[in-house]
Amino acid sequence: MDSPRVYPAVMTQQGSQHPDSLAPDTVVVAGGRPERTHDAPVNPPVVLSSTFFGQGEVEQGDRAYGRYANPSWDPFEETLGELETAQLPALVFASGLAAVAAALSLVPSGGTIVMPRHSYQGSLAVSQDLAARGAFTVRTVDIADTEAVKAQLEGADALWLESPTNPMLEVAEMRALAQAAHDAGALVIADNTFSTPLGQRPLESGVDVVVHSVTKYLAGHSDVVLGAVVTSDPDLRARLLTYRSLRGAIAGPFEVWLALRGLRTLALRIERSQATAMALARKLLEHPRVEAVRYPGLPGDPGHERAAAQMDGFGSIIAITVRGGAAAADAVVDALQLWLPATSLGGVESLIERRRRHVNEPETVPENLLRLSVGIENAKDLWADLDQALQKVQD
Ligand SMILES: *Cc1c(COP(=O)(O)O)cnc(C)c1O
Repeated sequence: MDSPRVYPAVMTQQGSQHPDSLAPDTVVVAGGRPERTHDAPVNPPVVLSSTFFGQGEVEQGDRAYGRYANPSWDPFEETLGELETAQLPALVFASGLAAVAAALSLVPSGGTIVMPRHSYQGSLAVSQDLAARGAFTVRTVDIADTEAVKAQLEGADALWLESPTNPMLEVAEMRALAQAAHDAGALVIADNTFSTPLGQRPLESGVDVVVHSVTKYLAGHSDVVLGAVVTSDPDLRARLLTYRSLRGAIAGPFEVWLALRGLRTLALRIERSQATAMALARKLLEHPRVEAVRYPGLPGDPGHERAAAQMDGFGSIIAITVRGGAAAADAVVDALQLWLPATSLGGVESLIERRRRHVNEPETVPENLLRLSVGIENAKDLWADLDQALQKVQD
């Protein structure tokens, strides 16, 4: 099979020079800085140019044209690559779903991909759309059930991992599954949006390709839509780069600048929102209006032990089911005054939504499930608002 022509693009940037041994919470601040020359800016510039000077044959490493490369992408790509412990810079895409589509392009034509049945609904929708066009076959599986996943891996070409899953918060046994997939000859792709590289680094567990919706925690302020793919494999990266250059789902320079700006506070935001999520999950567990709580940080959660073993924190997403069905869940959302009723997650502001309001959401997600994305507001204020909304529905 002919491999696609690799489009020219800058693989590395000369800028940020800092020791390799820095901790991730330093890298988010120190990464992607311009060179330290007198009077140079300390932040990378936004480069608004669709084309770059050049004559003669376009060579590997040339920027050439704005669909192949933009200097505004490099600082973020370098920093995210480093955070994910990749040997190569990340590749930014126009959205998380564009990054998902790029990663799915690595599945061979007519092949088979195994996916968690509760993957992000957009990832399921795009893979099912590709399957309907004959691109490949999708097998969905309970990703928390390691033996069931292994059984599905026979004859598969790729394994898609999401852990914890959106919105059910099931935890996959990442290292064991990556090993089993490789034994079966399958490529392993992990969507690390929920955890961020501060929470877990799938490449260290043997995963080949990591996908991000940068829209969420990495950018962190609900003001940008962006995606990224990370890998340490030069061939896979070259194919992803070619895919990006040909399909054209490229990032805007300003969006990437905003994402790097947001990334600077990632460690602080996560530390805060995670601590609040833990406190809220404990309180929700005791609340008479709450049927069940899923949060990997709760000692009684089915994913707790696995999460504790493979993650550096339990994240800031909580799923609850509310007594009284979908109507009661909707009423809770309506009664909230501080929490924002909106889709998405990972921003500084706390967001809540009943997931089944989306037609594509799998039917195995309960109708009365609310997904809470805990932000960085005062924990007492967040609890007071949740509590009053839950109480109101009881009346
Ligand atoms: C939001 C999300 C995506 C899609 O990202 P967009 O930036 O919205 O295109 C993919 N995976 C997960 C886990 C997400 O939460």
